[in-house]
Amino acid sequence: MEHVKCLIVGSGPAGYTAAIYTARASLQPVVYEGLLPGGQLTTTTDIENFPGYPKGIGGAAMMEDLRSQALRFGADIRPGTVASVDLSRRPFAVAVDGGAALAADALVVATGASAKYLGLPSEERFKGQGVSACATCDGFFYRKQDVVVVGGGDTACEDALHLAGLCRKVYMVVRRSVLRASHAMQQRVLATPNIEVLWEHQPKEVLGDERGVNAVRLAGAAGEERRVEATGFFVAIGHHPNTEVFRPWLQLDEQGYIVTQGKSTRTSVEGVFACGDVQDPVYRQAITAAGSGCMAAIDVEHFLKR
Ligand code: NDP
Repeated sequence: MEHVKCLIVGSGPAGYTAAIYTARASLQPVVYEGLLPGGQLTTTTDIENFPGYPKGIGGAAMMEDLRSQALRFGADIRPGTVASVDLSRRPFAVAVDGGAALAADALVVATGASAKYLGLPSEERFKGQGVSACATCDGFFYRKQDVVVVGGGDTACEDALHLAGLCRKVYMVVRRSVLRASHAMQQRVLATPNIEVLWEHQPKEVLGDERGVNAVRLAGAAGEERRVEATGFFVAIGHHPNTEVFRPWLQLDEQGYIVTQGKSTRTSVEGVFACGDVQDPVYRQAITAAGSGCMAAIDVEHFLKR
């Protein structure tokens, strides 16, 4: 069985930053990149709020830079997903999809979070045929068409603005009478002529046929129904943490996020550290994820020295 000092699971800003720091500390980190190498930011457009990029930078380009930086210092970055762990043993036992088994002295969990869906049966039926949780990935397919975006946070606003540049009309379906998004994003959405916000509405059914989505049935605050003709249905209602593999072993909060101790990245199991969105239901920014990846690396170094 392969024995590694530091195993990092996940490859967003948190995982790559942990890799850069642990590689520079000569801990020879092995990184498993997971299902979406580079993480959620690879599906976003420009990142305008990461310090140091006055003109902004594309999400995918930033992740490629972080990956190259980790490789430069000797991180061993591999494709693959961790299928199971046994954290009751020392070193920790880790099984990777595809059959590889590793023993790790320290483990960094940086598996991030994934998009939530509404849970409508019709939404499930049309996934990939008009229903999407990634406007940046799929918006291109709906050029000059009418689409719906569900949600009122920064992601929904970002998606609506992206789609407004491609599509004829964007209906933004918001369940309350206010947006949760930052003030700047709200202003941009409200000033875009081809975005119509449908306040206090909830999707009830995604309608379509064998060619895909063609309309959405909505309910208003008083229960009144409304039908909107649209070929794309973009869900942007938040994320859930990717903690399934660790659920039996680590303390999680009621939403499933890994609980870390005080101002550290230590989890309920000594030698296991968590960083990035998987342990952060509050800030969830690239810069905070990268910062916590750095903290995890320093915590790993202290742990291994002891
Ligand atoms: P948020 O949790 O901030 O917003 C989710 C939105 O979806 C809310 O408007 C919420 O409504 C709505 N919603 C949730 N569940 C449902 C449901 N079942 N039906 C209908 N609507 C629903 O998630 P985001 O993904 O937008 O943002 C996550 C974090 O990432 C935030 O901190 C955000 O600031 C950040 N972010 C920053 C960006 C940037 O800086 N460029 C870009 C994207 C995200 P309600 O308000 O009623 O709860």
